[in-house]
Formats: sequence, C-alpha cells, structure tokens
Amino acid sequence: MSIASTVSCLDGYDPDALRVDKACEAIRSCLTPISETEEVPIREALGRVLAREIVPEINVPAHDNSAMDGYAVRFADLDQPLREVGTALAGKPYAGTVGRGECVRIMTGAVIPDGADTVVIQEVVKKEGDRIVVPPGQKKAQNVRYAGEDLAKGKPVLHPGELLRPAELGLIASLGIGEVKVKRRLRVAFFATGDELASIGAPLKAGEVYDSNRYTLHGMLSRLGVVLIDMGVVRDRPQDLEKAFRKASDLADVVITTGGVSVGEADFVRELMAKLGEVLFWKIAMRPGRPMAFGKIGNAFLFGLPGNPVAVMVTFYQFVRDALLFLSGREAAEIPLLKATAAENMRKVPGRTEYQRGIVFREGAEWKVRTTGQQGSGVLRSMSEANCFIVLEHERGSVSAGEPVSVQLFEGLA
Ligand code: AMP
Ligand code: MG
Repeated sequence: MSIASTVSCLDGYDPDALRVDKACEAIRSCLTPISETEEVPIREALGRVLAREIVPEINVPAHDNSAMDGYAVRFADLDQPLREVGTALAGKPYAGTVGRGECVRIMTGAVIPDGADTVVIQEVVKKEGDRIVVPPGQKKAQNVRYAGEDLAKGKPVLHPGELLRPAELGLIASLGIGEVKVKRRLRVAFFATGDELASIGAPLKAGEVYDSNRYTLHGMLSRLGVVLIDMGVVRDRPQDLEKAFRKASDLADVVITTGGVSVGEADFVRELMAKLGEVLFWKIAMRPGRPMAFGKIGNAFLFGLPGNPVAVMVTFYQFVRDALLFLSGREAAEIPLLKATAAENMRKVPGRTEYQRGIVFREGAEWKVRTTGQQGSGVLRSMSEANCFIVLEHERGSVSAGEPVSVQLFEGLA
C-alpha cells in the first residue's frame, strides 16, 4: 500500500514548505513498530527495548529489614532500659524473638527480628552496663524498610516499550531474573552521496571534502542501539545510486542517505527514491534542513537527508531519531523542550522553524542561552561547541535579549 494513502494529515498543506510538526506527524502515521523479539542476557539488554511486561514473583526487599545500624526494639518498651539479647547481621538473621524489655543489635539490611517493630540508630543510645538506654523522641516503625516497598510481588513494574537503562538492569536483577525479552534491533543502512567526497586516508584533491556525514551518522545511530549497515560513499551517478538504494532497501528496515536531495544538477537522490519507490515529501519549512526527503522503497523507509553537515544532524534529531525509536518499539521518547532566557538578540524570519546551535549557561539563579556564533549549515563546529538546540518556532520572528526561548539539551544523564 502506498504511504501517501495512509497519510491524511498532509491534506491542504503546502508541499513546498511543510511545517516541521506536520512532517513529524506524517512520518509517524506511516510507521509500524517492528514486532520480532529475542531473549538476551541481562547485561546485553542495556539500551534495548523491553518486549514483555515484568511482573515480580517476589517482594523486593523480600523481608522487613533495617535501614540503619542500631538496635531493633519494641517501641512500646522504650520507656525502660533494654537488655541486648543478640545480633542480627545482613544475611544472618537473629533466630529468636525480641521479648518484653529486650533489644537486638542490628545492622543495615538485616531482617527485623520477630517481636521488634522499630530501629533506633546506634549513635543516640547510651550503654549502661549491660543495658541500653534510648532517649525520648523516637517514632514507631522508624528506620524499618518493609518487604515489597521497592517492588511488590504481582504488581507489574516494567512495561513493553520501555528503554532498558542501567536502573532497569539492576531492577530486573533484583528480581532474580537473568534473561530479558527485547525487541530485535532495527537495521539501518546508510550512505553518503557526492562526487566531491574523499575518504579518510586518501589525499584531498582540488575541490574535494572529506566525507564527515557518514561518521556523524555512525555516532548518532550507534547511540540509538540500531544495527548499522555502513554502505560507504556513492557517487552522483544514477546507476550507482540505484544499485545502492536497491541493496540498502533489501538489507535494512530504514535507509538513510546524505546529499543530493536539493535541486542541483547532480541531485539524483529524490528522483531515484521516487522511481524505485515513493516520496511523501521533500521540502520542509525549517533551517537548516529544508530539503529532506521521506519515502519508502519496498518495506524500507527512506530518509534522504541534506548534504550539509549541520543539516544532517538537525534533520536526524528532529525527524529520524523519533522515527527510529518508534520503529524500534519505544514508547514516547520526545526530546523535552525547556525554557531559557535569550542572552543575546537572535535573527529569525517567521514561516519556518529554526534550530540554532546554542550554549546554555547559568548566570546567578537564571539559565541563559546564547548562540555559538556563525550558524551556516556547513559549520559543523557549531554542533561541537553547542550543548543545545535553540528552537525558534515557526511563527516566531526575531528574538530580543531577555525573552524566553525553547531549548533542547544535547545530553541527558540516564
Ligand atoms: P548536496 O546536498 O549534495 O548539494 O551537498 C550540500 C553540501 O554538503 C555541499 O557543500 C557538500 O559538499 C556537502 N556535503 C555533502 N555530503 C557531505 C559529506 N558526506 N560530508 C561532508 N560534507 C558533505
Ligand atoms: Mg551532492
């Protein structure tokens, strides 16, 4: 079935200046997440997408236990000196019961002995001979961690579509589970196009540039945990490009190319995509990144990214990333839009979304953002210097210093 027939959200929109939000919506409506799954050992599950709900078969922690080093006591008996009758260590429970007027020395993680209901930290108690005296002001049940307070038996804790991060690996391990069912990895083939591209190792001839896009793509794709199929550089020759497209769309779920999508004499990519498959749109009201083709050949989705190195990164992060995550089975993974105060004036014309490269910094209590300076789509240094995109919305005009602007931060923690 043609993708155009599945997309209704483009009706009435100018195909020569498609809004970013419309383009995102249209791409989304063409995609179906992959369904194949596999079982992997827990360590290899990092960065993968969970394919089956995880329901604890045990409580975590399995027993009520102490959160501190101190004494396990009966709260009702704290008005009297207590006799220490034994010790409870992590992994070595106290076998008896704490009776009236008694207490047990207890360490962090040790099971709360029968009879006790409260833990008093060791720093506050006084020893008087063989007796322990606890000062007033304690609260019943303090410093006790209850069975199941982290994960409760029977209550689903992780759901299909969740990304497995370090916390999830630990959480799954805490349930004693060693293998995880995850979605198979998405296969992504990519190549750069251009007669002017030199490969690393070859001397640069007149008019040539080293192909950097394939390396940027390698980095961005690696971080998304997909299987990479790097098909190298393809020259601006229709026969070569056709061969490359056919091979890539056979091998991969998604094909990404750079260059050759504008209207120059050697720009064959979009034409070929249309000849071999279907192109949904290729002009977006954005900067950088205006020419960007989206389409399909056979079962593979195609992203014909621009050639300019910054435009490659911007279109990747604004369109391709979301599509790849969605196809991989991930639940919502939208990049948060945060607010910062413009530290300088920014030139902008209404009618397109701009992604300026910015540096977020703190001034006193306020987070401000300035641009990296030169914003040409060939200035890859701007991406390297930046720690965020400054997203200037479609309708917006120039920004004055002091106004709030939206930013997308490049780095996250988990
Ligand atoms: P194009 O869209 O093919 O006209 O390319 C636009 C600009 O991006 C030109 O200046 C190209 O030299 C440059 N460019 C295209 N592909 C690459 C690449 N793989 N690495 C670095 N620069 C590139
Ligand atoms: Mg080119």
